[in-house]
Amino acid sequence: MILLPALALVSWWLSEPWRLRRRRARIVRTPFPPAWRAILRRRVPVYRRLPVVLQRRLRERVQLFLADKAFIGCDGQAVDDEQRVTIAAQACLLRLGQADGGRFPGLHQVLVYPGPFVVDRVAHGVGGVQQDQRRVLLGESWSQGQVILSWPDARDGAALPDDGHNVVLHEFAHQLDQENGAANGAPPLGSRQRHARWAGVMQAAYAALQARLAAGQPGVIDAYGATDPAEFFAVVTEAFFERPAALADEQPALYAVLSGYHGLDPRAW
Ligand SMILES: [Zn+2]
Repeated sequence: MILLPALALVSWWLSEPWRLRRRRARIVRTPFPPAWRAILRRRVPVYRRLPVVLQRRLRERVQLFLADKAFIGCDGQAVDDEQRVTIAAQACLLRLGQADGGRFPGLHQVLVYPGPFVVDRVAHGVGGVQQDQRRVLLGESWSQGQVILSWPDARDGAALPDDGHNVVLHEFAHQLDQENGAANGAPPLGSRQRHARWAGVMQAAYAALQARLAAGQPGVIDAYGATDPAEFFAVVTEAFFERPAALADEQPALYAVLSGYHGLDPRAW
């Protein structure tokens, strides 16, 4: 009678979460390669600005990310530590405020192209009319666990950390959004209350962006954010990390909600 619960406990203890924790602990105990640190310093200038405690956490997250996710070069793109560390560091920046290790659990592969890539797709228009669409993209995020990136754009996005544009932050924001289904601008938030606050603030900021664009006024949030709520979340994530003070000035409620979600305040960096 007592044995059964005890056995269940032991089997749980030896199960996935425990083995995963042990594996992760082993990975972060491995010294961070000096060559990777040099890549961070050279390619990811925001790394040098982070408080020491966040620099260390970012290095650990990069180790975990690179141990977990496959990088695949496409169209002749070579993938070595230069690509892997530069992309992983930007992705991991997004989840640096999360205590759980910010794992992007649904992501399996990062596909890297030598430049913008062409995507052919069939779109269903009004009345069910099918249209072939050809688009040239710098990045894309799939809910089946892939992020696709143009390496020169991923590299240049990291090199300019204050311009408000970063394709890696953008596509990995879509990954966060896709953790609870198709991208709709609302990643998993933990509680109904937080969802309600998120929806209210996002809708107001989205409407404000559309009004601003209609009036032809400039602002910190890129016009591409007005495409739909999913793009809005990805675009304001770029602004949150790359132009935090300007975003907080222009949209204080939006900044506060994003800061709460990410567990970070990039204005301090
Ligand atoms: Zn997008």
